[in-house]
Amino acid sequence: MSKILRMPLHLANQIAAGEVVERPSSVVKELVENAVDAGARRIVVAVSDGGRTLRVTDDGEGMSPEDAALAFERFATSKLRTSEDLMALDTLGFRGEALASIAAVSRVECLTRARGSEAGTRIRVADGVQEVGAAGCQEGTTMVVSELFYNTPARLKFLRSESTEVAHVTETVQSLALAHPGVGIRLLVNDREIFDSSGSRELLDAVALVLGAEVASRMLPVHASCPVAQVVGLVSPPEMLRSDRNRQWLFVNGRPVRHGTLAKAVEEGYRGQVPASRYPWYVLSLRIDADRLDVNVHPAKREVRLADGSALFHLVRDAVLQGLRRPPEVRAPDTIEVTEVPPQRAPEPAPVSLFREPERPAAHHPAAKAAPPRPPALDPAVIQATMPLYQPAPATLLPEIAEPQPGGLLRFPFERLRILGQLHETYIVTEHPEGLFLVDQHNSHERYLYEQLEPAQVLSQELLLPVALTLSPIELAAVSEFQQELAAQGFMVEPFGEDTWVLRAVPAILPMAEAEETLRELLAQAAEGPQKGALRAVDREDRWRVSVACHAAVKAGQQLSYEEMQQILDHLKVTQQPMTCPHGRPTGFLLTKDELDRKVLRHYPGARRSRCE
Ligand code: ADP
Ligand code: MG
Repeated sequence: MSKILRMPLHLANQIAAGEVVERPSSVVKELVENAVDAGARRIVVAVSDGGRTLRVTDDGEGMSPEDAALAFERFATSKLRTSEDLMALDTLGFRGEALASIAAVSRVECLTRARGSEAGTRIRVADGVQEVGAAGCQEGTTMVVSELFYNTPARLKFLRSESTEVAHVTETVQSLALAHPGVGIRLLVNDREIFDSSGSRELLDAVALVLGAEVASRMLPVHASCPVAQVVGLVSPPEMLRSDRNRQWLFVNGRPVRHGTLAKAVEEGYRGQVPASRYPWYVLSLRIDADRLDVNVHPAKREVRLADGSALFHLVRDAVLQGLRRPPEVRAPDTIEVTEVPPQRAPEPAPVSLFREPERPAAHHPAAKAAPPRPPALDPAVIQATMPLYQPAPATLLPEIAEPQPGGLLRFPFERLRILGQLHETYIVTEHPEGLFLVDQHNSHERYLYEQLEPAQVLSQELLLPVALTLSPIELAAVSEFQQELAAQGFMVEPFGEDTWVLRAVPAILPMAEAEETLRELLAQAAEGPQKGALRAVDREDRWRVSVACHAAVKAGQQLSYEEMQQILDHLKVTQQPMTCPHGRPTGFLLTKDELDRKVLRHYPGARRSRCE
């Protein structure tokens, strides 16, 4: 008997589901995309039980009883027939896998009635068995998914808290609403409405709903086209930036995608106008001729391959450049309407100006005066209060001064170092009896601060001016879930309105200018990391401490006085592990006299005879 057996269909579907159905939000994405493909104008998504039970209702074209039964079979689709069709897709779906995958890891009930048909159909699918019958229902389709992952305990274990899963669902629905402003999408969580897009076709309306009216009113419209594609959307002015990329949406033919070249193109559009580590907000929607695009790259359809990468790079970059040059008053809302059906004919040729070298802004234009963005001026008293870097650490914070016990080959040779100066505003150059010892100022300071953040010792410092932070749904879920834990690390945060929290206090070692970015980093780590209460929570708190220390430490590029350099060495001396920073990078290293001598060939036999010796 052969060792190899064909998998039972149900098992094959469960394996496929592993790729397609990662969490409740993946189910929502697939079902809403099916509804959009069915021509729905109105879609209602209702979730409960942290997304393990959900319902998606649409007013699309519905299905006949035969089609409805086939829809749950793997590789069954109405969206393509031949491999040529794959090259010219105008639908979001095409793999014929989603319903089969969802039904393999949950219990599904489908109610559907084709447009113009008298009767509806009800189908129940569980454990691979279908039950089909007639039912009264409206035109369109309702899919009810319950007990998601009931038969895949491993997946179930990886689900995070209800609020986090709901946050992912919310972000998915928001992204779909931005991708399809012509479709009204409503989201109910535990019967409470939390989102309802009008489906007015105006991208600006969808943006106002997702990002708030204030943000939307400041965004600048962008539109451009070339022979194979067109791009429309909204981008933030260069002074409206975030410390993360959480508010950036890129759609290609209605699909949210990650695409390095296109993301880089947007960045290029802002080049020279935004400082490092600050990111614009944007919602950009590209329509590309279907035959210039390969969508069959990723099982969850999150990636695409483009035939004209370079032309599209220029299209997007120039569109952004152009958008940033336009004063907000000339916004023409009708130019940002997104056409739901991808153009089959070649779009109009782009206005010539889009492909010219960017002109210098006219003198009267606000952007013309735009100096490079400067950090806001800080009150010296605030700086003093929030940057206690070079004040001696309070005695209570200092652990017992012990001889350091470095784990490596070399002990950190504190006593024998004589500071010579600073190199490239990055290294403290010291003389050591055996050679030249270079100390990395950031790594060393980071090590000291990290050890200062031992759980019981975190000192919190109230901010003179509390910072209001608008948070994304995932950040919101993380901040409510981890509010206590954050407080234990010195971050006092309180809710303040629907999607806003106020940051009142931060660890005393953290400069105020770093407060927001650090908190967002911690929230991102919390959202990624282990669940609250899980054993590995210790790891999460440790990662948090590393982040705080990293943000609080002096940076490379910062000029230091002799006293400051000496203090870094003195601080490092009292640490438990002075040889490495908490990321594991060395704090310093020795270039031995021997190595230096070899560099100048001092011991080379011929050198003996020279007068240089
Ligand atoms: P795909 O979307 O890749 O074709 P799915 O498994 O998601 O695969 O769906 C299978 C088929 O079921 C679709 O091709 C479509 O014909 C039908 N279908 C699914 N959802 C709907 C819906 N909401 N309205 C009408 N037809 C639907
Ligand atoms: Mg589908």
